[in-house]
This record gives sequence, structure tokens and C-alpha cells, in this order.
Amino acid sequence: MPRAPTKKKTTLERASRSRKPAAAPTEAPVMTAGKPPPLKVLFVTSECAPFAKTGGLADVAGALPKALRALNIDARVVMPLYAGMPWNELEILDGALHVPMWWGTAHARVRTGKLPNSDVPIYCLEYNRYFDRPYLYGPPAEGYNDNLERFTFLSRGSLEVCKALGFYPDVIHCNDWQTALVPVLVNTVEWLQPLHASATVYSIHNLAYQGIFDGGGMFITGLGREHYNAGEFEHFGALNLTKAALRHSTLLSTVSPTYAREIQTGEYGNGLDGILAERRDDLVGILNGIDVDEWNPMKDPFTPEPFAAADPRGKAACKAALQKEAGFPVRPDVPVFGIVGRLTHQKGFDVLAHALDRVLGWDVQIVLLGTGDEDAQRFFAYVDAHRGDRFRAWLRFDNGRAHRIEAGADFFLMPSRFEPCGLNQMYSLRYGTLPIVRATGGLMDTVSNYDEKTAGGTGFVFNDLHPESLANTIGWAVSTWFDRPKHIEIMRDRAMRQDFSWDRAARAYQDLYERAKQRRRGG
Ligand code: ADP
Repeated sequence: MPRAPTKKKTTLERASRSRKPAAAPTEAPVMTAGKPPPLKVLFVTSECAPFAKTGGLADVAGALPKALRALNIDARVVMPLYAGMPWNELEILDGALHVPMWWGTAHARVRTGKLPNSDVPIYCLEYNRYFDRPYLYGPPAEGYNDNLERFTFLSRGSLEVCKALGFYPDVIHCNDWQTALVPVLVNTVEWLQPLHASATVYSIHNLAYQGIFDGGGMFITGLGREHYNAGEFEHFGALNLTKAALRHSTLLSTVSPTYAREIQTGEYGNGLDGILAERRDDLVGILNGIDVDEWNPMKDPFTPEPFAAADPRGKAACKAALQKEAGFPVRPDVPVFGIVGRLTHQKGFDVLAHALDRVLGWDVQIVLLGTGDEDAQRFFAYVDAHRGDRFRAWLRFDNGRAHRIEAGADFFLMPSRFEPCGLNQMYSLRYGTLPIVRATGGLMDTVSNYDEKTAGGTGFVFNDLHPESLANTIGWAVSTWFDRPKHIEIMRDRAMRQDFSWDRAARAYQDLYERAKQRRRGG
């Protein structure tokens, strides 16, 4: 990736060379007009929408800091500069960022800009040796061999950015294993340094990804071998970054209340349930919001007609367009089921595969958009080839089509094995597309089950991850569609009126940050 220098401004080099903090974090807060200064939060992340995205974390990173700013929190984002990002639209901070690595010092560049439509500064660490690659973490189903080194660089680099800018956060908010070293570094190499005063909040977006490496790689973290023990990094004979973060962070969070409870159990804890249960009083579940501007059925550039709860008529046109796009007969009377997501074990599509034969025996249409496991892709391509009259599989990543599915479908399928929060069911609700979900994680916290007596609920919920249960629940939705259309209308209206804006979540994070700050300062 060519790196033509663009505009320059001074800040980084001077501060970074002098190594003097611009303001000591321990000094008394400056009271401006009777108000304390805004809370300072550094949000460290390995991905951030719209710049680089593989999953829900990117959506959180792109939205939460903006919502925090609206609460007068000085939130800033640090992430790597990956290939494919709009690097020439970002301003280069003058000078080099000196990042200590196991092999010496990495001299990186920092490019800065703002999150789109906001005042949130974003600092992108430019170090081509680690990040100028086709993938964020590695080719599908593989990780790059040097991922421990790459994300050690991100963790260490994010702290060096703070020092270089003289930005001493009250809270450093770390997200998933790629940033899990930060809380450990703050407690160790920053000991008695200004950054030691920063509280750390570690958010689990998906406990299935823990950052597990060979124990022999401990030296790459730059930390002494003494930290490779069962209380910190060592876990079942391997180096586990998440485990160390769970021990070292001031407070912990995850992305839904139900997932926060589930991960304290053997079934969902992925081996870390013991530590999480020990820290249960320091662990909160805060449901993600969604970007209500991007996912707005009234103003969606990807769909043919706008609609809203107050005037849902446009949804019929979206449905017809989706049926056309899928090559299905355009029939308003047939229920259309949408599926969007990564084709991985987590999402339970293997269970759907076993239920599909029965479901395709009914008068339904199903569209699937997803990429992932090769076996799953092959299977769904096969069904597409043989049942193309009512099953369409698009095996690629296509944001516009994801929008059209949310808008045009009547029901949305998420038979997840586990789901920390899940965004698609919230998009569905907002587009009046009733979700059919398994009772797990964030799905349980966002979708309420249909009640035939009262027309209550916003979707259809099942418990057992079994093809029979899934097919029965799809059948229940189909019979409701044909036999009680009024109920579908009522549920749709209720679904579209749910509030999933980031505002609510940002307030919960604000409380969490305040608590973390108090805890760190011994309050
Ligand atoms: P996860 O983070 O586990 O992948 P989420 O439901 O939290 O699941 O978020 C997935 C995000 O990625 C959503 O914004 C969804 O629309 C999007 N997405 C997943 N697969 C595709 C695809 N094939 N095409 C377009 N968007 C996709």
C-alpha cells in the first residue's frame, strides 16, 4: 500500500521525544464553571466501522464513542491502520511513535481523523510490517502466525499514543483479546507512571475468541516469564490473553445481561467461567445499541421504498423487490424468511440445515446471505441449486443486500448456539421483520416471545438447539402468518417501536466508567 504523505501537524514528535506528560493525571481536576472536567476515555479496538470490520465489535467501536461524546465524555479511539482504510484522508501526526517491542523499538506513524459525522478523534497506528495485509486477523478460519506480536504492538502502541499526546485517560476501554494486554501493561510496565492511574474496563464481545498462543511466546508480550502462571496468562498449558485481562482489569463488561450470566457457567464460559464467576460483582452486561441512522427504514439508500411503524406500507414494495432479487415468484401472500450472518458453529446454521428439508416442504421463501465455513457454504449452495424456487443463498459479504433482506423479509432466522448480543435481530425488529431466535444471550434480552392469547411479543423464541424445535418454531410463525395475520401486524408495529439507540447503552457505560475510576483511585 503506497503511503504518500498528506497534511502534517506537530504534536506527536515533540511530546513523544520529551517523554514528559502534558498533564499529570493525579493533579486535582480543574473545575470549570463549577463543573468537573469531562471524563476522558480511550477506546482501544482492533476494528471500527466504517474503516475496518469483520463483526459486531466494529459496529460498537464506530457508534459507542460518538454516543459518549454526546454525554460530554472526551472519548477517543485507537486502532491499527489496515490496508484498505482511507489512509490518505487521515492527517499524519508529525514524528514517530516509539513502541517498545520484544525485539527493539518499533517506529510507527500515527494518522488521525474523526469518526464520520462526529468530533470523536481516531488515532490509527501505521506500521506496515504488521497491518498492511489483506486480512485483519488472517485468512478465513486461520490467524496470522504473528498475531500475538501484532496485537502486542496495538496494546503497547495505544499507551504510547496517550503519552505522546499528553492524553491521560480516566478509563482505558479495551475490547476483546486483541487489546487484552493493555490492562496488564497498565498494572505492570506503567507501575508508578502516570498511566498507572488510569482505570481499565475490559469488554468481552465474544468469549469464543480468547487470544490463545503457545506458552513459549510469552516473551513476545514484553512481560517477564513470572506472569506466565495460572493466575494470569497460563491457562491449560497455553498463553491466554483474555484470562490475564480478566484478572488485571479494574472492571469487566460484556454486551448483554444474559450473556454476562451465561459466561459464568461451564456451558458458555469457554473454560473461563471460574474466573468470571469469581469476578461476578465486577462484571456487567450492557446491551449494544444499533446505529439508528444507518439502519433506518425511513432513510435507507439500499431499499426501494421507505416505511415506518406509523406508515408501514412501503414494506410491501421492499418485499416484492427482494423476491425479485432472489428470482422468486413475487407473491405478497407467501412468508419470506431472511438470514444474514457468518456461517460459523456459533450461529447454529448446522441445526437449520437439518431442519431445512421439512421447512422447504411448506409454502415459504428463504433468502440467506453469509460467508464462512466451507462445508456450510457448500451445503447452502447445493440447496440453492436444487430448491431455487424457494431457497436462495448468496455466499458473499454485501452490506446493501443485508439491508434489503432486513427490509423485505417477513421473518428473520437466528438459531444461534450462543450470541453475546447480536445486532441483526435488532435491525430486524426496527424493520418490522419478526425474529425467530434461540433463547440465548442478547437474543433473549431483545426479543420477547409471541403470546397467542394477547398478540404479545416481538418474535418467536425457542430453547432447545435441535432441528425439531427450530422447525416447529418456524412452523408456528408460518401458521401465525396464515391464520392470525392481525397478530403479525400488531407484533410488527410493536417491534418497530422498540428503542435500541446507543444513548441508553452510553449512559450505562458512563456509570461503569465512573465506577471504574472510583475503584482505581481507591474511592
Ligand atoms: P457477529 O458480530 O457475531 O458476526 P452480529 O449480529 O453481532 O454478529 O453482527 C454481524 C454484523 O455483520 C451485522 O452488521 C451484519 O449485518 C453483518 N454481516 C454479517 N454477515 C454479512 C454478510 N454476508 N453480508 C453483509 N453483512 C453481513
